[in-house]
Amino acid sequence: MDTKKYTDLMKQYSTRYGDFVLAYHGNPKARWHYINHNTKDYKELVQYDRYPNHRYIFPDEVIIDVDVDDLDKNLEATKYCINRLNELKLKFSLWKTYEKKHFHIFFPELKDMETNKRSNVKEQLLEWICGAKMINYGRIDTALHSKHLIRCEYGLYEKRFLEYRHKEYILGDIFNLDNKIPLKITMKVVKKQNAYKNINYDVTLYKGETPKCVEYLLSQDFSSLKDGRDRAMFFLTWWFKQQEEKEEDWVFKAEKFNKYNLNNYFNRYQMNGKINYAKRNNGKSFCHRFVHKLLEELGVKHECNMNEAISLKITGE
Ligand SMILES: [Zn+2]
Repeated sequence: MDTKKYTDLMKQYSTRYGDFVLAYHGNPKARWHYINHNTKDYKELVQYDRYPNHRYIFPDEVIIDVDVDDLDKNLEATKYCINRLNELKLKFSLWKTYEKKHFHIFFPELKDMETNKRSNVKEQLLEWICGAKMINYGRIDTALHSKHLIRCEYGLYEKRFLEYRHKEYILGDIFNLDNKIPLKITMKVVKKQNAYKNINYDVTLYKGETPKCVEYLLSQDFSSLKDGRDRAMFFLTWWFKQQEEKEEDWVFKAEKFNKYNLNNYFNRYQMNGKINYAKRNNGKSFCHRFVHKLLEELGVKHECNMNEAISLKITGE
């Protein structure tokens, strides 16, 4: 490993981002250790040649993760990204660990944005750069726009530590700080956020007897909490699934909830994960107990007094 390059770059990051967090684990099954850059502990680790090999994505950074198993397609996807970035006149750096490739792209304007807006803008930026075409290649992970650990530059790939391999620099500018966010992207996000604020909740979408606890999750009160969204999405997917006989109908409701109530908080890949999970698990059903527990944790009072899991409505019976 080029330890000087590593420590110099981390130092530069600390100048730019302050005391940022690094992470490492001895092997993939061990738990994570987190360590701040500007600490005695970090200096000590580095002194003993133990370099934390992960860090969080920086606030003004977007990452394109090219992880396609088929090597020809992997190369094709990488070339596609390079051409696309050049075409858009965006500066970037390209890194690789084995065949897995990361594009690191900075948009300094993101740094001072409010978190929610920033995450929406990052998602739009990735869509603008990669576009729908990328999906044809398989695993191009555009989910990497939020709080997510990535391997540090020059960091050790510990999963196959028998043949030490590090994240290598391939090409581009490591500090690519000239990129500008196109106005059309900022406008699109602002427009979406305003549309979300003005939306009238569509009650007819959730016809039938809706228990109070579910009603709360579907309300604007819940949407504005911005907490517990992951579990709520999960519970509601089950709820919609048992309300609707046709798969396309419950999937539509789940998508609509994410789009309008959660302002697209979950991206395409995350939504696919949730929906596929519900598709695969037919034996499970919506359970009040879990929802009530969530509401309790969120400090929300509700009037639902149903405690038992409502039995699944099974198509054809
Ligand atoms: Zn309930």
